[in-house]
Amino acid sequence: MIKTKVLVIGSGPGGYTAAFRAADLGNEVTLIESHKTLGGVCLNVGCIPSKSLLHTAEVINEAKHANELGVTFKSPKIDIDGVRKNKEAIVNKLTGGIQALAKARKVKVISGYAKFLSKNQVSLDGTDEVIEFEQCIIATGSRVTKFPMFPFEDKRVMDSTDALMLDDIPKRMLVVGGGIIGLEMATIYDALGSEITMVELGNQIIPVADKDIVTPLFKKIKKTYANVFLNTKVTKMTAAKKGIKVQFEGKDAPESDIFDKVLVAVGRTPNGLLIDAEKAGVNIDKSGFIATNNQMKTNVDNIFAIGDIVGQPMLAHKATHEAKVAAEVISGKKTGFNALTIPSVAYTDPEVAWTGKTEKELIEAGVKFDKGVFPWAASGRSLSIGRSEGVSKALFDAESGKILGMGICGNHAGDLISEATLAIEMGCDMSDIALTIHAHPTLSETTAFAAEMAEGTITDLMPPRKKK
Ligand code: NAD
Repeated sequence: MIKTKVLVIGSGPGGYTAAFRAADLGNEVTLIESHKTLGGVCLNVGCIPSKSLLHTAEVINEAKHANELGVTFKSPKIDIDGVRKNKEAIVNKLTGGIQALAKARKVKVISGYAKFLSKNQVSLDGTDEVIEFEQCIIATGSRVTKFPMFPFEDKRVMDSTDALMLDDIPKRMLVVGGGIIGLEMATIYDALGSEITMVELGNQIIPVADKDIVTPLFKKIKKTYANVFLNTKVTKMTAAKKGIKVQFEGKDAPESDIFDKVLVAVGRTPNGLLIDAEKAGVNIDKSGFIATNNQMKTNVDNIFAIGDIVGQPMLAHKATHEAKVAAEVISGKKTGFNALTIPSVAYTDPEVAWTGKTEKELIEAGVKFDKGVFPWAASGRSLSIGRSEGVSKALFDAESGKILGMGICGNHAGDLISEATLAIEMGCDMSDIALTIHAHPTLSETTAFAAEMAEGTITDLMPPRKKK
């Protein structure tokens, strides 16, 4: 039997961060992972490979539009094996790096699938190996949600993992789900040459974000893709010889159509029900989420949980912060997860990012707010890079002027949103942002301009109202 002080189950961004921080704080740590490499969904089949392919897509799209700059490139010749190899090299570098960091910290890495036997023991599924622990951090993440009525047994019906494998470039591809995964994968396949149809159940793409923030992206994909159907449901999918026959229910969609491949991206399900956590006395809800307090402790004193398994948003950067809290609490530090906001980013073209409260959340909560909206068509830097469709929106408390939220659509929105996230954490107000000198000409200026629009001090556009 292996004995350890701290056992971490799962090596995604949450799990490896927890293991490394716990080791750095002097604990003896064991990390169990069932996948052949460390890094979890994010590094192996999520954030990293998708970003590598999105960069390939960006290069293709930039070259396609270079004629507007007076430079013409020939149509790209896509070597799909080369694209895949580049993606795999990046993934291998990062997963290998995690392995090396584990070794350097003397974290014991065990390969296998852990299932709880009790509040101090797990076994490795399919073996008689038992690991005894004093403290445990569950970081087993989530998996793709699969509707049983879709024929996933047919290789032409893909989830995001299959789509990232890039087996081929289908001629006609249907993307079910206009959330972040659907939109990012559609961006990739569209650039590689597939004709995309997207179907979304809600009345807008990325339904959780404000509509005005996703509108520039929506307008672009409406123009580029064969079809984008909103308020539409896929009612049936059958595998036929000619392709996957899909039936729709929606005002604008046809009754049915046939596609060479279908990507289903309708959300992710937490893995809480797969690890026998109930044998340790851990409460799990019926969807598979495990509740914790703000020290990431479950209802069982020596068992912690972090990442996708503890709730929305299922984002790597939330998991890493929760991981540090769990590792520090185990090490006797008085700490907790007290982040005021967790930013969200869709790495589409243009990117969409938001942080803090959305406008619709403020309206629903009856909060009185001021808003500054800056259209990037008035940004010299945005026009210089050939883009004019972006928008930055900042939301401020009507009384105190404190920033409550921000939404950005445009190139590098995912990088730009960090300023507003820091501003929320620091309790900045409108003038803090407007009076901070932003370098010119940069895209980051658009954040200050949004604050100036709210203040009425903008000069690069007509102010919506005079400064009092
Ligand atoms: P999602 O929940 O973000 O989006 C799924 C979409 O599918 C929703 O808009 C929903 O309305 C729609 N939908 C559901 N059922 C449908 C149906 N039958 N027909 C048509 N549309 C339907 O889920 P996702 O895009 O699969 O992403 C899963 C998780 O992974 C999310 O938590 C996301 O935040 C995370 N993720 C994050 C990033 C990132 O940070 N860039 C990237 C990928 C995934």
